[in-house]
Amino acid sequence: MQQTNEVNWQAIREDFPILREQIHGKPLIYFDSAATSQKPCAVLGALQHYYEHDNANVHRGLHGLSTRATEAYEAARAKVAKYLNAPNVDEITFTRGTTESINLVANTWGVKFLREGDVILLTEMEHHSNLVPWQLLAERTGARLRFVPVQEDGTLALGALDSLLTPEVKLFAFTHISNSLGTINPVADLCSAARAVGAVSLVDAAQSAGHLPVDVQAMGCDFLALSGHKMCAPTGIGALYGRAELLEAMPPWHGGGEMILSVQFERSTFKKAPGKFEAGTPNIAGAVGLGAAIDYLENIGRAAIFEHDTKLATYAHRRLEELPGVRVLGPQERGGLVGFVMEAAHPHDLTTYADQYGLALRGGHHCTQPLMRKLGLPGTTRASFYFYNTMEEIDRMMEILENAVRFFA
Ligand code: PMP
Repeated sequence: MQQTNEVNWQAIREDFPILREQIHGKPLIYFDSAATSQKPCAVLGALQHYYEHDNANVHRGLHGLSTRATEAYEAARAKVAKYLNAPNVDEITFTRGTTESINLVANTWGVKFLREGDVILLTEMEHHSNLVPWQLLAERTGARLRFVPVQEDGTLALGALDSLLTPEVKLFAFTHISNSLGTINPVADLCSAARAVGAVSLVDAAQSAGHLPVDVQAMGCDFLALSGHKMCAPTGIGALYGRAELLEAMPPWHGGGEMILSVQFERSTFKKAPGKFEAGTPNIAGAVGLGAAIDYLENIGRAAIFEHDTKLATYAHRRLEELPGVRVLGPQERGGLVGFVMEAAHPHDLTTYADQYGLALRGGHHCTQPLMRKLGLPGTTRASFYFYNTMEEIDRMMEILENAVRFFA
């Protein structure tokens, strides 16, 4: 495993111009990367380069510039495939992000293969993106939802899996890393448990794809969804990995230009995947940006990023637990984020307080309302880290939060 001390983290920080911003006259401390990450110069430069030198529509033009744009777009797809260790580049579909990737599966695979009486198994820690699409699908098909409980310590009740994963379960969809609790789920075990009952597995990798090595073959998943903007790429681009055999059997979702082989007035035939899922002009520049982000992350090394993230999160967890009236949610072993509650302050008030000092935290339900309800909380405050954050920033956060404890008392 790559050691963090081989990486010059301070120099890496310089790659992110936005980190030099001031907020309310104070240096920005950006602890909201779980919502969206910042973008390095390499990605900003790739976007500029694309628009200055290669911009044209993809696939349809026979002119030289269109060929260049197509090559740049398809090269980005190949980078995503390699990054995820997908066996085949055609198993990568570009989408707007995790939300759209999951909706794509629900509206194609789900609509075709789910029937009344079937069960969709989820967990209680899912982001609304990996819950609401399945609720809509269940309403449409008559399928039912079932949930793996979250335990007191923020981990999944894996002991309940045997009784939950019955033969009626056709899909098991779960997050790799919880955006509220920081829990890292044992995804390979969950995928193999799904496979054992003939269920298809879907991994929500929104919080993991940019933070640790993600290998779809080692995981054994059928689908995996990710968002570019959480891994240094622009907003509006993401990807869905799907096993070739499943993609082949799935009908298209959006209809339009580009996804067809031939169109007649009454009916059409469609391209193979991923073409049949990419109707209309795609986010070409976004894909190019995602490719550049992947190059950038690979250059640092995901193992090193993970080590750095967890070091920050473990330190923040320990320091927060020392604060009077503060409770940290989730297990000790965690991804790069910490959710906590301060007895004296509502998360919105605490977040607004922190903002006055340039500290960007997130307060609220983090799009996990059912989980918050189960935990009996109106919401939490979340500090989420990435490789450009430092221990000194956590120390500064702790000073601000220590003052907040006194202020709200
Ligand atoms: N799943 C998880 C675990 C997330 O944290 C998020 C983003 N907060 C999403 C899904 C949705 O991602 P996006 O909004 O980029 O589609």
